[in-house]
Amino acid sequence: MHYLSTRGEPARKRFCDILLEGLAPDGGLYLPEHYPQITDRLPELRRIYREQGYAELAFAILSLYIDDIPADALRAIAHKTYTKAVFGTEAITPVRELEDGLWLEGLSNGPTLAFKDMAMQLLGNLFEYELDRRQAELNILGATSGDTGSAAEYAMRGKRGVRVFMLSPHGRMSPFQQAQMFSLQDENIHNIAIDGVFDDCQDIVKAVSNDLAFKQHYHIGTVNSINWARLLAQVVYYFAGYFQVTGQDDQTVSFTVPSGNFGNICAGHVARQMGLPIAQLVVATNENDVLDEFFRTGIYRPRPAADTLETSSPSMDISKASNFERFVFDLLGRDAAELRTLFAETLPRQGFFDLSADPRFLRQRETFGFVSGTSHHADRLATIRAVWQQFGQEVDTHTADGVKVARQYHQRGDAVPMIVLETALAVKFSATITEALGHEPQRPPQFEGIESLPKRVQVLPADVQQVKDLIVQALKATAGA
Ligand SMILES: *Cc1c(COP(=O)(O)O)cnc(C)c1O
Repeated sequence: MHYLSTRGEPARKRFCDILLEGLAPDGGLYLPEHYPQITDRLPELRRIYREQGYAELAFAILSLYIDDIPADALRAIAHKTYTKAVFGTEAITPVRELEDGLWLEGLSNGPTLAFKDMAMQLLGNLFEYELDRRQAELNILGATSGDTGSAAEYAMRGKRGVRVFMLSPHGRMSPFQQAQMFSLQDENIHNIAIDGVFDDCQDIVKAVSNDLAFKQHYHIGTVNSINWARLLAQVVYYFAGYFQVTGQDDQTVSFTVPSGNFGNICAGHVARQMGLPIAQLVVATNENDVLDEFFRTGIYRPRPAADTLETSSPSMDISKASNFERFVFDLLGRDAAELRTLFAETLPRQGFFDLSADPRFLRQRETFGFVSGTSHHADRLATIRAVWQQFGQEVDTHTADGVKVARQYHQRGDAVPMIVLETALAVKFSATITEALGHEPQRPPQFEGIESLPKRVQVLPADVQQVKDLIVQALKATAGA
């Protein structure tokens, strides 16, 4: 399998070539040359999942896209990643039925209690494998407002050849999220709290990455959501959800996905393109409704960071959906020249692009199945309360956005089941849960008292040079050790 860039760089790269890369050199995103078709293999994949479990299903799907890691090694990586010890259950992504035909698929039982573990844990093991093979090192520099940073740290802790330098806005994450990250004592994990907001952190990461000499000399890389390996890892749980909810391969299901960067639901798009019988892919946004606007109107209008609202589902507070370009590429029939004009010319020039009259957009519901909706703070509270009162279940704020929008497209007892992806556990966002329910959310036993553990974090001003100095010092320290 070869990979191409959405902006036209030809397809000469294989999986391991793009594993450690971010954007393609032409500024595009990597996609496989084609989507392998699995319609004929659905019964076989169902049997693999039933009899051999999630890890073996993951291996079967990954191996359709990865042909430059020997099968035995890839299988070992999948089995090392998706274990009951790491993800809490044998099913890895267990489903539960809320009401007739409305299901939740639990993606948040990994080490940091958010769905990002599903991909990041695999990425950690892939990185370790590939860095070992190349005898290379990687220093991951990232910015986080919560879920991504902790998922990356838990995935990379103790891994050979990898160090993590994670910037977060000082004092702005929830106490639980701070405790999760800062309590890690591993030598290769460096928490840096920046006096500033999330955008300051992100600006520093960009500035360091734009210093190409520094980047090369110190082997700086990223783990952001545009990484193809992360997307690919996420494709697997659409299959696992489908197999759990249906009994036969002629049935269809729909998925609702709480969305920010369009990463999670883009994996659903890939699964559907492979032939998984998905009727609708429902995009659920919060008040930052850039994606809902596009799917309703055909106009894509990313917001300046200053216009991005801070909400009670903060992991969806994005201005620009960084994976969205992948879907638009497919929507345009994979015309890279046309894609490049939209994203590299029209968008920077006028701040939006408009496909409202384009027949390919007008047909997209039939071709690609996307619909959308928005959920606001009041909806979130009402949904958290209703799910608790009716079903005795706690859902987190992001999942609540999903359930709210899912109900716009799914009525009780509909023939096509609706699966809402549960993207985090309630305990991560306890302030809003307490606001809705009047009591604190349940806390898994392994997180009791986490806030009082010793913290390992350095506070720095929002200054690029000081962050660079810290990286250099840390590398010298380990080289001398
Ligand atoms: C990251 C995240 C999302 C958004 O996922 P995307 O892939 O960016 O669309 C939703 N919910 C939670 C809890 C998250 O951490």
